[in-house]
Amino acid sequence: MKTIAISNQKGGVGKTTTAVSLSVALARQGKRVLLIDADSQADATKYLGVENPDELQNTLSAAMHCIINDLPYKTGGYIQSHPEGLDFVPSSIDLSSVEVELVNAMSRERILKTFLDDVRGKYDYALIDCPPSLGMMPVNALSADSVLIPVQAQYFSMRGLLQLIRTIDKVQRRQNPRLKIEGIVLTLVDNRTNLSRDVSAMLRDAYGANMHIFKTEIPMCVRAAESPSFGKSIFDYDPRGKATLAYEQLAGEVLTLGRKKELGRGGFAPTR
Ligand code: ADP
Ligand code: MG
Repeated sequence: MKTIAISNQKGGVGKTTTAVSLSVALARQGKRVLLIDADSQADATKYLGVENPDELQNTLSAAMHCIINDLPYKTGGYIQSHPEGLDFVPSSIDLSSVEVELVNAMSRERILKTFLDDVRGKYDYALIDCPPSLGMMPVNALSADSVLIPVQAQYFSMRGLLQLIRTIDKVQRRQNPRLKIEGIVLTLVDNRTNLSRDVSAMLRDAYGANMHIFKTEIPMCVRAAESPSFGKSIFDYDPRGKATLAYEQLAGEVLTLGRKKELGRGGFAPTR
């Protein structure tokens, strides 16, 4: 099982859309996929059709609470299956109190990893939808094998990206030396504007030499913005949409990277 954290401390850059759409796309390619909603806002959970996540009992926060306190738990109790062929661990607002609990927990960076290790044999991919912060939850998520960074096609995205790369670097040194950067994916791209093209060029220029930048860019698409309110993925809501096709293509790139890695090629080593 390969675990991929979808991370960026900035909100509104397309993390949740990427986590959900890429999970569905990988599932459609026949992969066994688990999506973990690690954001207390529960946007991914709602996107997957759960109307009132805060009424759920068996959420990620409940599982993490058990792990922190050494209480018996079964991973299966926290996993729901989705009609589009993937499984997910829902989130709820309670996850914010788990963040507080994490502060004083033993091996606090490894709580989510314990859960992931317990489901390792059951899935090909586990994707983690991170909250918009660099707090304990995203740091827990960086116990993953790799991190995929959605970056919005805006000039000011670059500075935030540098801060995130520094955090990843610190995690590589202190906590998870095997952590790789899966790649950067440009989101909310409006190809009609020079801005999107400039940011794309800037990104490739600044980071392309030592980091994978996905060829696929995710275009801005009204129907992609509408789909969460229907609790349907874009594959269901807008099967032939341009964002849908882009996420299908992105999944192809992720699968190719995985195969190259199996052959011992490709993938970028830690930055130091
Ligand atoms: P994050 O999880 O980083 O906060 P989201 O995935 O929730 O970001 O996206 C932020 C907003 O942008 C949401 O309203 C979402 O529906 C919208 N959005 C995401 N991707 C696209 C896209 N390709 N085209 C149009 N709107 C998008
Ligand atoms: Mg989100």
